[in-house]
Amino acid sequence: MSGARPNDPVAAVVAALEAAKSLVVTAHVSPDGDASGSSLALALLLRARGKEVRLAIPMDDLGAPGVLAPFADFRSDAPLPEPDLFVCLDCATVPRLALPELRGKAGLWRTLNIDHHATNTRYGHLNYVQDDYSSTGEVVYDIAKAAGWSFDRDIAEALWVAIVTDTGRFAYSSTRPSTLRCAAELLACGVRAPWLNDELFCLADRKILAIQERALASLETWYDGKVAVIALSERDYIETGCTKSCTENFSDIPRSVRGSVLALFIYRLPGDPKTHFSIRARAPYSACALAKAFGGGGHELAAGATVEMPIDGAKAALKAMLELAFE
Ligand code: AMP
Ligand code: MN
Ligand code: MN
Repeated sequence: MSGARPNDPVAAVVAALEAAKSLVVTAHVSPDGDASGSSLALALLLRARGKEVRLAIPMDDLGAPGVLAPFADFRSDAPLPEPDLFVCLDCATVPRLALPELRGKAGLWRTLNIDHHATNTRYGHLNYVQDDYSSTGEVVYDIAKAAGWSFDRDIAEALWVAIVTDTGRFAYSSTRPSTLRCAAELLACGVRAPWLNDELFCLADRKILAIQERALASLETWYDGKVAVIALSERDYIETGCTKSCTENFSDIPRSVRGSVLALFIYRLPGDPKTHFSIRARAPYSACALAKAFGGGGHELAAGATVEMPIDGAKAALKAMLELAFE
């Protein structure tokens, strides 16, 4: 039986998902734990309802070994046929959709946009954007609860990965009492929390330690230590053999500088001509405002942007932009 009340916006989401026989599920480019965890969880939930589900996420750089293993069941090289419903998760804007061929489909295919970014542009036919939620994983959990769907361990672990990564292991201000109630229920479904914690946050291959060393060596502080910055070049990734997922939490490095209110992780990935910013703030400073100034977005305290500048140019532009606030 469905737990959704009439006129409850979640009821429209449940109805759209229930009505679709075939679905394509995707998330944002360079999927993080929330993007990959929430999309895998939704794909598993829908498959358990007998639906035909294609998971359109790049599956070659999902990070920790063994984590989110059920992704392998969704691997397919077949072209994506038009589904009854196209579901986009954790993705605030169309240009950030995970695969270039999907960016023309949003709005063309019947689109359901499920997210927790305040900067979401509402590009779906149906938009379910809960910007006070910790993670898209928590939004998917609520949808599944409203629908009356049950969770097996794989689904619960996918949601757990989504929530623990986006909340910094339940540490950030986005963690609400309801986040912990959701986590409690997931744990009761058999989530292997200590194993996932080790894989996601505690264990590092030597190559990750090597790139961490380079990141630490690059540390600079600006404006009396209020802004802490690290930068990694394409060469740093190539010479250490690292990919984007190896440096997933690296904004924690500048963020750990005592006295810092803004932490910047600037990086360039092999084969990608753009420079990326990963920005973290301590209230009342806004990571999102800084990201927006460079055409990006995100949340108040965790945001990002992508720019067409070399690292040194990006640093100079950031420093100049922050001068008014900190000088
Ligand atoms: P990250 O620093 O990559 O962990 O991202 C932090 C937050 O900022 C996430 O919510 C992202 O979705 C968002 N974000 C990161 N990069 C960009 C970007 N280039 N444009 C818009 N939002 C971004
Ligand atoms: Mn994300
Ligand atoms: Mn998220």
